[in-house]
Amino acid sequence: MQANAPITRDVVTIPRKIEEGVRRNVVGLSRDALREALIEAGVSERQAGMRTAQVWQWIYQKGLRDFAGMTNLGKELRVRLAEHLDIRVPEVVTKRVSQDGTRKYLLRVGGGSEVEAVYIPEEGRGTLCISSQIGCTLTCSFCHTGTQKLVRNLTAGEIVGQIMVVRDDLDEWPGVGEPFPPEGRLLSNIVLMGMGEPLYNFENVRDAMKIAMDGEGISISRRRITLSTSGVVPLIARTAKEIGCMLAVSFHATTDEVRDRLVPINRKWNIATLLKALREYPKASNSERITFEYVMLKGVNDSDEDARRLVDLIRGIPAKINLIPFNEWPGAPYERSSNNRIRAFAEIVNAAGYSSPVRRPRGEDIMAACGQLKSATERTRRSRRKGRADALPPDTGPVARE
Ligand code: SAH
Ligand code: SF4
Repeated sequence: MQANAPITRDVVTIPRKIEEGVRRNVVGLSRDALREALIEAGVSERQAGMRTAQVWQWIYQKGLRDFAGMTNLGKELRVRLAEHLDIRVPEVVTKRVSQDGTRKYLLRVGGGSEVEAVYIPEEGRGTLCISSQIGCTLTCSFCHTGTQKLVRNLTAGEIVGQIMVVRDDLDEWPGVGEPFPPEGRLLSNIVLMGMGEPLYNFENVRDAMKIAMDGEGISISRRRITLSTSGVVPLIARTAKEIGCMLAVSFHATTDEVRDRLVPINRKWNIATLLKALREYPKASNSERITFEYVMLKGVNDSDEDARRLVDLIRGIPAKINLIPFNEWPGAPYERSSNNRIRAFAEIVNAAGYSSPVRRPRGEDIMAACGQLKSATERTRRSRRKGRADALPPDTGPVARE
């Protein structure tokens, strides 16, 4: 285990290429921005409100990808919109289906970069794990994504687009004006637990989640969206205020000494600072409980003492503790704790009054489990080396902002 790994590795940023001559993509625009785009494309101010609502519904309720099919718009208008605007979502490069039904998608986003998203079907519901960045600037020592050098922030359209392509694959668009059935959706929950640190791409994540929550569109309630952060303290309050979704935090250790090594951002914002911000979160966002994610690493953070320290630390915070058996990846410097150890740890946490579900690894056979995501970017990396890369700022600030 590296004692002093940098918080940020020598990442290489991928500049987002804005292809010239390509029509403007409307996916990811807020309603207001869509309205502006429609006006620019020739819709009159007087009709803009109505047209925005119509186009929005076609895109986010019916999953339509061309203006030609928007039958409640005049023919001429449809042609004009198609000349100026586009409805683009990531392209599915490969889809792999695990023995347990988990689906892993490799998606190509703008500029030829790739990200992964994972759909996890469960009884009566289904969770989609989406990415917020290509790679991650942080270097958590147990995480495969953290070993990826190339980083670019995803745009709001690329983030919400992940939901849209998976909804295509599940064939689950209700239709314009038709509500979803109240229960039993295939894609009912979203977790921002794929590649990247969502709070280092705050605005795009926020804008994408606003679209995902919109009742006249994708319509996933804020209570069914969970954002996981490694602990970017200054943005936690904004998450409550501006997104209002459920929060999960990658806690993983009960002393600063160990957390410094596992989650190096701890050297910037330590456990005490993080807990202070978390105490405010549920009040500020109206959400119920914060999920404390805790990866179980053999001999590192899994002792009875750790369990007791954990419950002491979080006392007073409405919380549940999600124990994640470590998922291995090639070259990983850790091992998973034994089932007996995980059980003993869970019992102590339970006895203190916290629920402590053990996250059942899903999709391991296709490297789709937590922390195993990493897109093959070698090809791009080589071309980057030729010198087109713009280096990241030396610390962990947001990268490649839109
Ligand atoms: N960057 C965010 C969200 C993505 S990671 C974050 O760190 O919170 C989603 C969860 O998987 C985090 O709790 C992360 O710590 C955990 N994780 C990463 N690598 C893992 C691994 N190899 N095994 C199990 N969990 C892992
Ligand atoms: Fe980044 Fe999260 Fe992985 Fe840490 S655990 S390297 S923050 S994706």
